[in-house]
Amino acid sequence: VMLITMGVFWLLSILMSVWMSRLTMRPILRSWGRQTEFVGNAAHELRTPLTIIQNKLELLLTKPNDKIIDQAENIAIASSESQRLQKLTQDLLALARSDSNTLQTNFEKTQVASFLDHTVEPYTEIAASQGKKLVLAPVPEFVVTLDQNLIHQLMNILIDNAMKYSPQGSTITVSAKPLGRKWQLVVADQGIGIKSADRQRIFDRFYRVDSSRSRKTGGNGLGLSIANWIVSLHHGTIVAKENQPHGTQFVTTLPVTPNSSLGSRREKKG
Ligand code: ADP
Repeated sequence: VMLITMGVFWLLSILMSVWMSRLTMRPILRSWGRQTEFVGNAAHELRTPLTIIQNKLELLLTKPNDKIIDQAENIAIASSESQRLQKLTQDLLALARSDSNTLQTNFEKTQVASFLDHTVEPYTEIAASQGKKLVLAPVPEFVVTLDQNLIHQLMNILIDNAMKYSPQGSTITVSAKPLGRKWQLVVADQGIGIKSADRQRIFDRFYRVDSSRSRKTGGNGLGLSIANWIVSLHHGTIVAKENQPHGTQFVTTLPVTPNSSLGSRREKKG
């Protein structure tokens, strides 16, 4: 009986330690799985433009005596694919920074109206060149604390998307208003819209509602995950809503003063 009892205890302690180690290992394994998935997705995204560039360069080498003008189309494709690679590497670097929590932030008091004037203005010309209208609705005078570079990057992502997913002749409206201790920044378009089932998932890394369409417009599915990270650095929220009568509204809600301890120090939140 002694031997059997000792055996049962021994077996139980082994089972307990296996179970405990599974519990402690689970988050590590999960994060490892996420890392592997991320690297796989990144490699996949990098491979496509690289293959196209390589094909185009090999094609050029088969006709070394051609004039540049005769090969202009191949050169243009190789060039636009290398731009795509550049954008992708920038986005991947931003996400790597978000994962390592080592971004040096610089929060400063900012007049929203004049900041948005400067930020939005350059995009109005780009929108006009695509036959779209970009409007900054009148912004009331109010001051908030934000990292100007990061919010500029956020605006860039949201306006760029609004233009990518809207038809010619449509209008994109940027607006901002104070809401007590918070304030709201809205980028609204009259484009293709996003189905409610996709409105959460678009913030996931590499998620695209329609990959072929997004690829054609130069998308890599990383923009909104970077937007989400920027907003979380400001302790805010970002949601996609339906715009009336059609299109999408990205509503970003941020605290007027994110956190007094958020000076220019190493940011630990991500
Ligand atoms: P992408 O680089 O593919 O645009 P994002 O992360 O910026 O990646 O966006 C993820 C997906 O969300 C896009 O592929 C697109 O399907 C959808 N999306 C983003 N913004 C808009 C918008 N303004 N209108 C419609 N769909 C959008």
